[in-house]
Amino acid sequence: MASIAIAGAGVAGRLAAWQLSRRGHRVTVFDPAPGPGAGLGGQGAAGFTAAGMLSPLAELEHAPAAIARLGLRSLEGWRQIAAALAQATGDAAAAFARFDDSLLLAHPADHGAAARVLARLALAPDIGTPEALATATLAALEPALAPGLKGWRLAGEGQVFPQRVLPALAEASHARWRWGEPVATVAPGCVVTSTGVRHGCDLAIDARGVGAGFASLRGVRGEVLWLHAPGVALGRPLRLMHARHRVYLVPRPGDVVVVGASEIESADRSPVSVRSAFELMGAAVSAMPALAEARVVHMETNLRPALPDNLPCIELADGLLRVGGLFRHGWLVAPALLEDALSGAGLN
Ligand SMILES: Cc1cc2nc3c(=O)[nH]c(=O)nc-3n(C[C@H](O)[C@H](O)[C@H](O)COP(=O)(O)OP(=O)(O)OC[C@H]3O[C@@H](n4cnc5c(N)ncnc54)[C@H](O)[C@@H]3O)c2cc1C
Repeated sequence: MASIAIAGAGVAGRLAAWQLSRRGHRVTVFDPAPGPGAGLGGQGAAGFTAAGMLSPLAELEHAPAAIARLGLRSLEGWRQIAAALAQATGDAAAAFARFDDSLLLAHPADHGAAARVLARLALAPDIGTPEALATATLAALEPALAPGLKGWRLAGEGQVFPQRVLPALAEASHARWRWGEPVATVAPGCVVTSTGVRHGCDLAIDARGVGAGFASLRGVRGEVLWLHAPGVALGRPLRLMHARHRVYLVPRPGDVVVVGASEIESADRSPVSVRSAFELMGAAVSAMPALAEARVVHMETNLRPALPDNLPCIELADGLLRVGGLFRHGWLVAPALLEDALSGAGLN
């Protein structure tokens, strides 16, 4: 049994704590957040701000096939995690994640953008193949869509519900949670908090997201809106392939639709800009006209932790593991990435 100190209780830190404590290791987690719940309105873990889409195939638009393969492996991981969280909490597994499908959509005028995306997806047929949908089939799946949209179904894609999964991972694990304690230094065999207290351990894990100790790490600004839309049916995540904007709509419990996300090369966490809100809402209403009467109940900005190649990275040395650079795929790849990281550290 090893003693493990984890800096950062975002997606990577909580999953690592949950996995390692289940394997019998003594785990302590440090994070500046005041507790396992609130996402600090964009000031804390990006994982809370994320839409939570698990879209290995659709992400091929932005990412290499290696990310999609990590994502495919992680889908199975999330199934198991959702089942275990359901058992631990007494809630249904579907309260944590769902895995049915997602849809790619395009207005007829955006045929060029759609053709480009579909060509990218066709480069990795082993990941999956979008299924072109007949108009009537699309309307039956998502009756609130604007008429005239073209649609493709991505079978097996899904979503996690970050506001449920992140607290549940903390509550269901046997780790010691040191909330309100930022870490200043993560070094082999120890973490040092910002108050200068040193905690020795067998393995220190740096999972501080955009605050992790990788050279050349940057934050990439992302903005999302939450719409309250009672009576507007949305059964699955949708992505609109638009000539100018990439916009997704993701259903959440309580008639909430998350609309996201901007991707801006800036580490600016200031509130959502008028331009982003305008573009996201305009594209969302073009796909689902009934959203024009939805209410904007929340807007949030956060930073995706990214390395120069926008790919995730595992750095392993004696007594030290850094996991980071999860960029726009943290939820998608985390279970498989951590499995690789922990087995590399001999912690299976
Ligand atoms: C708008 C937006 C939408 C997104 N949508 C998706 C999506 O649909 N699907 C997907 O797969 N991914 C998505 N992502 C990406 C995903 O959220 C990130 O890749 C993921 O959160 C990164 O995980 P992480 O654990 O590395 O960092 P984070 O989740 O950011 O967690 C880092 C943690 O470290 C803590 N920390 C920071 N500094 C310190 C310190 N000094 N000491 C101790 N702890 C510290 C923070 O408080 C935080 O809890 C999205 C991101 C954004 C911003």
